[in-house]
Amino acid sequence: MRVAVIGSGVSGIASAFYLRQRNIEVDLYEAEERIGGRIGSEPMLGRRVDFGGKNIGKHYRQFREFAGACGNPDFEYFGLNTSQLVKGHVLKISKEGAPLSNTIKLLMLCGFDGVRKLYPLIRAVQKDHLQGVLGSDFFRTVSDRYDHLTLAEYLKERCVNHVVRPITIRMNGAEPDECYPGNFGSNLALVLDSYEQLKYGMHGLLDAFRNMEGPGSLRILGKHQVTSISNEPGGTLTITCEHDGVSSTARYDRVISAIPARQLATLLDHSLPSAAALLRRIRYYPVAVAIVKYRDRVFEQDRRAMMFDSTGALSNAGAYGINDLDLVRYTFSGRVSRSAISAHSTPEAVITLGEQIAAPYISIKNNPRQEFAYRYLAEGLCAYSPRHHLLLDQLDREIAYFNGFGATGDYRRGASIEACFRAAGECVENVIGDAY
Ligand SMILES: Cc1cc2nc3c(=O)[nH]c(=O)nc-3n(C[C@H](O)[C@H](O)[C@H](O)COP(=O)(O)OP(=O)(O)OC[C@H]3O[C@@H](n4cnc5c(N)ncnc54)[C@H](O)[C@@H]3O)c2cc1C
Repeated sequence: MRVAVIGSGVSGIASAFYLRQRNIEVDLYEAEERIGGRIGSEPMLGRRVDFGGKNIGKHYRQFREFAGACGNPDFEYFGLNTSQLVKGHVLKISKEGAPLSNTIKLLMLCGFDGVRKLYPLIRAVQKDHLQGVLGSDFFRTVSDRYDHLTLAEYLKERCVNHVVRPITIRMNGAEPDECYPGNFGSNLALVLDSYEQLKYGMHGLLDAFRNMEGPGSLRILGKHQVTSISNEPGGTLTITCEHDGVSSTARYDRVISAIPARQLATLLDHSLPSAAALLRRIRYYPVAVAIVKYRDRVFEQDRRAMMFDSTGALSNAGAYGINDLDLVRYTFSGRVSRSAISAHSTPEAVITLGEQIAAPYISIKNNPRQEFAYRYLAEGLCAYSPRHHLLLDQLDREIAYFNGFGATGDYRRGASIEACFRAAGECVENVIGDAY
């Protein structure tokens, strides 16, 4: 059986990994030169730093199995330790110690209405972590009941501004009035987890994946942009791709799309227009990430990140790692950021903007920059759609017209590395079934 996987981000890598476990030959198509998509590292001051997904939860079982198969790289503690601007005051929230004081702070931020509405959702995820997977039984019910409202409409302003927004901005790049209660469980699962990161960055893992030995086989086709997918009367699937300006086609028994929803829509416009229309309803929002090395430490061990409010373009600034208090990762997302920053903004201008917002709260005055790296992602974070599970059910009915075709990605089970692994595993199971 020949199988093509389109896209070599986490979803594509996970799909290829699960296909290879079934001893299948995989061709992995990637439009860019490098693999990894929204994960991956870039060189900076003699080391490599990660721009996209890097924090790995204790509950990331499938990703950790993959990491084990890639040579068991070392993890280091990352934690969840942040401060938040609340009406101009800095409020520290940390999972490290003082659970009672944190709970009291959170209760105050939520208000009575917020506690009443959020507590059952939190309990559902705490009792069974899998309810925090996008489209779980519990959150399907929440979606059916409440997704006629946005999160901003479902909850009171205080809870929205101080509790919900810091979460949606970080995880979906979206404001609470762009997110829906039925999808919030996948965010809560991330908030309730505790984090590590790979000590030497994601690139080591990507290299290990490239060189992984059998079962199965893997051919990585870099700089191969797939431009369409169609099915043939005999049951095979044809993909057309461009490489170095030359167009070619190839036939496969099975094809898995592992690219973001809106990019898949473009590939299906002619062959499956109704599926393409559904995919276009799934929202993605931009995010810009700058990693800046300062001469002296910017954060303290017990205060390693700062979240900002909706008035500025900067959503948060945090120490890159527990031992990297002089290396700051600035993240820009949300409505103000979208009007202030675009693909044409210069890194210098964006970093200066971030520093102006952060300077009153973190130690960057008289602390010169030594180096920086920057990345802008136009489709950075997925915020799904209202009644998302119904949209996905309908999508599956539409793509079933292409026998042997499957679509996975961050819009399936949630926008995290683990959710991409889960979705990829399910997609491989559906597409290959008992055939191998
Ligand atoms: C700034 C940021 C921070 C994050 N932090 C975390 C975190 O700490 N922990 C966590 O768990 N998650 C995190 N995430 C989320 C996680 O990184 C993403 O959900 C995940 O990387 C998405 O992977 P993907 O494979 O679905 O999509 P992508 O990474 O976008 O991969 C898609 C790939 O397909 C390729 N492609 C697209 N179209 C075509 C085509 N036509 N032909 C061929 N190739 C194509 C693209 O070039 C790309 O390489 C973060 C995300 C961002 C943006």
